[in-house]
Amino acid sequence: MDTLYLVIPCYNEEEVLPETSKQLRTKMLTLIEKGMISSQSRIVFVNDGSKDNTWEIIERLHKEDNIFQGVKLSRNKGHQNALLAGLMTVKDRCDMTISLDADLQDDIDAIDEMIKKYYEGCDIVYGVRNARDTDTAFKRKTAESYYKILKFLGADIVYNHADYRLMSKRALDGLESFEEVNLFLRGIVPMIGYKSDKVYYSRKERFAGESKYPLKKMLAFAWEGLTSLSIKPIRMIMTLGSIIFLISIIMLIYSVIRYAAGEATVGWTSTVVSIWAIGGLQLLAIGIIGEYIGKVYLETKHRPKFIVEVYLDN
Ligand code: UDP
Ligand code: MG
Repeated sequence: MDTLYLVIPCYNEEEVLPETSKQLRTKMLTLIEKGMISSQSRIVFVNDGSKDNTWEIIERLHKEDNIFQGVKLSRNKGHQNALLAGLMTVKDRCDMTISLDADLQDDIDAIDEMIKKYYEGCDIVYGVRNARDTDTAFKRKTAESYYKILKFLGADIVYNHADYRLMSKRALDGLESFEEVNLFLRGIVPMIGYKSDKVYYSRKERFAGESKYPLKKMLAFAWEGLTSLSIKPIRMIMTLGSIIFLISIIMLIYSVIRYAAGEATVGWTSTVVSIWAIGGLQLLAIGIIGEYIGKVYLETKHRPKFIVEVYLDN
């Protein structure tokens, strides 16, 4: 029987932790009883520099029942970093992890199916929301268009998947070899590879407390994802520059014809053509410089060039 560790980042979650811990404990005990996971399985709360009593609650839970473990970060580092910290801390003690939010908006009954897929040979199982009716229309629309933009920009991202996912030990080893500082996990995880699958669930409302992702943080997060995954925006500048430069040549031909026909005012031809030519050339130059910066950027990420899945020797 394989060992499962649940990893839950918590930032100022004192209002939800008592209920969350209760529900997760029951879930884990049921899974252990059904023989789906080993009795060594644990629930790990990562305290992301909370300002309230979150850590005291985690300490108390750990004292009362050793199924609970706690990781305390030295200060608030944000959801993505807290999650990575938790996963990397427990990686070598377990066979698989499932990451989820402290507010249990993600249906914990999907865990059963995730584990089943794990035993079927999946290294990564993505939890995907099949409905977003608990979100406001605004959040739903912006989130959906955002996923589409990311797809268009060439990022390999799972539609409507947040950070509710199962990862095997070796998938976590793969994740560890990514040395990203600008962390956007849902964009990096698909790059690891291995067999993966999806499990669908409907997202609930936060049962207590407030969202720790206000609009400002959400926008920052969205921008982070975009710029950390894609250098296509740079390419777009280059394309735009080429197009404008092309227009300048057309303008040149057009104004020479007008000039030859004696229709142009003196000075018009040279002025118009140079505006387009210089504008286009500048954009093109910025694009070319950008292309190199983009390369430097990707190099500095030190992403693994490959991850070997199997080596059949002798
Ligand atoms: N979180 C965190 N650090 C932060 C912000 C949030 O660890 O700086 C955690 C939070 O405790 C929760 C998860 O990230 O477990 C998701 O946050 P939230 O539920 O507020 O986001 P939403 O569901 O509104 O997108
Ligand atoms: Mg939430």
